[in-house]
Amino acid sequence: MSVRPYRDIYRRECRQIHVGSVPIGGGAPIAVQTMTNTLTSDVEATIAQVRAAEAAGADIVRVSCPDEDSTKALKHIVRATEVPIVADIHFHHKRAIEAAEAGAACLRINPGNIGSAERVRDVVRAAKDHGCSMRIGVNAGSLEKDLLEKYGEPCPEAMVESALDHARILEDNDFFEFKISVKASDVFLAVAAYQGLAEACDYPLHLGITEAGGMIGGTVKSSIGLGMLLWSGIGDTIRVSLSADPVEEVRVGFDILKSLGLRHRGVQIISCPSCARQAFPVIKTVEVLEQRLAHITTPMSLSIIGCVVNGPGEARETDIGLTGGSRGRSHKVYVGGIADHNIDDDKLVDHIVSMVEEKAAAIEAAKEAEKADAA
Ligand code: SF4
Repeated sequence: MSVRPYRDIYRRECRQIHVGSVPIGGGAPIAVQTMTNTLTSDVEATIAQVRAAEAAGADIVRVSCPDEDSTKALKHIVRATEVPIVADIHFHHKRAIEAAEAGAACLRINPGNIGSAERVRDVVRAAKDHGCSMRIGVNAGSLEKDLLEKYGEPCPEAMVESALDHARILEDNDFFEFKISVKASDVFLAVAAYQGLAEACDYPLHLGITEAGGMIGGTVKSSIGLGMLLWSGIGDTIRVSLSADPVEEVRVGFDILKSLGLRHRGVQIISCPSCARQAFPVIKTVEVLEQRLAHITTPMSLSIIGCVVNGPGEARETDIGLTGGSRGRSHKVYVGGIADHNIDDDKLVDHIVSMVEEKAAAIEAAKEAEKADAA
């Protein structure tokens, strides 16, 4: 029996596949993905972007492979980076084969779009030979003509049917290492399509609200759509599509998962919006702390609250807490929910940063010791 049943999320049961070393579905942690926006043939720029996404915590990174120069570059990109790389292929089966040979961990490809049955067989053979999984990616904006004629417009049923048609082609080729996405820029359409697909199959699902928009609009839209699905237990890997730096997509992805208690990575800051009662500049402090604590990967919670109205209460629920005391002077620091000591205004940020760093180091050391004991 859970202590807080209102927080429980029961994840949909599904098969497990692998994208390189990352398990997807079957109870594995929900993986966060992003996609590069450099020219893939620009090896240096793409490696730099993959590494930045990696450093931000991305579990998987996708790169487009629209031409042969890209699949040639892919080999160098895969070698120079740690995260599994998904090659995004559209219609060219040769690019898919080249990408598999170049070391892609997964191919994003719709088998129904690459032509003959023979081409599908060749792609599946390449995937099997090189340990590649696949993602079928249905998009409301590019549904097959026959489905548009049948349904009149992109709708959840058409998207599910399209996904299952593509899935059947892979199944007929004895290939089951794939996940599926049914993306749309319309939240209602995407959510309904994913709900339908979750019922209709037991493949892992890759979630995304496509072309969601810029940093703020896209984050809100993705949080509503992905949040709704994840909360109901649907989704095994996510990509937040933003017209922004891929690193931002990763951050937003993790924040969505953290808000639902589905993944924990780095410092989760709980902070108040501030008001006339604030005893120190909350907004500026949080902004600086976010930057200075971005390197911490150990899951931890930190409350930064401007005054005693909500400070002690929030501090009770977090690992480290700060509550504004007297304006411009001394403030209260909490450890494990208990008031511990005071800190002066001018030392506040440095002090909190060192406390978090020390706590992270202690947690990691304890984890290592536990591992050593178990070995
Ligand atoms: S916690 Fe205090 S400073 Fe922050 S918003 Fe509430 S009343 Fe204002």
